[in-house]
Amino acid sequence: MNNLFDLNYARALDRADSLAPLRGRFYTVPGRIYMDGNSLGLCSVDAEKAVQRAMDDWKTHGIGIWTGAETDYFLYHDRIGEKLARLIGARPEEVTVCASTTLNVHQCVATFWKPTKDRYKILVDELNFPTDRYAVVSQIRLRGLDPADALVTVPSRDGKTINEDDIIAAMTPDVALILLPSVLYRSAQLLDMERLSREAHSRGIMIGFDLCHSIGAVDHDFANIDCDFAVWCNYKYLSGGPGATAGLYVNHRHFDREPGLSGWWGNRKDTQFELRPDFEHDLRAGGWQTGTGPILSMAGVDGALEIYSGVEMKAIREKSLALTRYLMELIDAELARYGFTVGNPREDARRGGHVCLEHDDAVRINEALKAADVVPDFRYPNVIRLAPVAQYTRFEDVYELVRRLVEIMETKAYLNYSDKIGPVA
Ligand SMILES: *Cc1c(COP(=O)(O)O)cnc(C)c1O
Repeated sequence: MNNLFDLNYARALDRADSLAPLRGRFYTVPGRIYMDGNSLGLCSVDAEKAVQRAMDDWKTHGIGIWTGAETDYFLYHDRIGEKLARLIGARPEEVTVCASTTLNVHQCVATFWKPTKDRYKILVDELNFPTDRYAVVSQIRLRGLDPADALVTVPSRDGKTINEDDIIAAMTPDVALILLPSVLYRSAQLLDMERLSREAHSRGIMIGFDLCHSIGAVDHDFANIDCDFAVWCNYKYLSGGPGATAGLYVNHRHFDREPGLSGWWGNRKDTQFELRPDFEHDLRAGGWQTGTGPILSMAGVDGALEIYSGVEMKAIREKSLALTRYLMELIDAELARYGFTVGNPREDARRGGHVCLEHDDAVRINEALKAADVVPDFRYPNVIRLAPVAQYTRFEDVYELVRRLVEIMETKAYLNYSDKIGPVA
């Protein structure tokens, strides 16, 4: 058998990788191992150029930026939506970019949750990123309902993953709406969205997903998933920029539904500037826009999506799986003896784009990694998330990451750090 823990072996994998050239389009720091692309993806030349172009268009055209022949930013959200739709197998008109993930959760709950006396509950899971839950709870309160009654939380059996059978068992006749993550942000568990949507719909329940930890890493097929709505941020795997304008998917079946939160930017484009008193929404995802699009923030997303032209998400997913598989193999072979365990599901069909590395001394090890010029991501109390983003991470980087970790454990360098965490982990 090949020795996997070998720089030459890793380099051979890189030579055989057809996506390897993409890395050259990103700003990387020599010697630095960036494993936090699932918190903030790296800046690309493409994103930078698009932002610069928007600045130049503003300089040159002033107000003309919106509708000039060369600029036409008036429909920018639709054009970016079309590029994004390709990545998730949705129809071009089903995706738009607006607001933040959190606000888009508010928008979707406001649009799709129509509580009645008998069917009024919202189903979430215990492990989703908390902002989704905060938004749902405040929506429940806004309607004068009590979250203690109207919010149903599917518990985790092992504190890491959510059992899909448990979610389905919780789909009782009083549930009106379900909001779940595609990939869990700590354990990287990938839910079977197609199955969950089918089960929800067969019970008359609306269902939507938060794709923050899968978009740009997992090759979703929304034509088959066929959920009602989805939200996501564009700054993680997609590298759209810090706080980049977020994504929103509305299934075309629902285009004639009234947006829960309306605003003039969602109006029919042909009558928007007639400034009529009555709102008439655009019959596509863009109808869920509210206010004027943040062009500079959208431009980063637009530019970053250029990376995907001529690239299939299937190829990105395959490389992502190969990178995380290699990382797990090296953890088993070289790091398990120091007390490390893998906290994510191991099957390809059940894991997203990162590896959940667990250790009782994770706080200090994480600090030592940072000192060794690795950028990891710590989640209290014992998880180090490692995301080898396929767009710019080499197999060589995975090898080097493990080599530095072994060194930290061998030399006990981590004992030089405090095991207390600061306010921003
Ligand atoms: C990152 C993330 C968010 C972030 O929400 P913002 O409104 O973009 O700040 C929300 N939900 C999940 C699941 C996330 O992973």
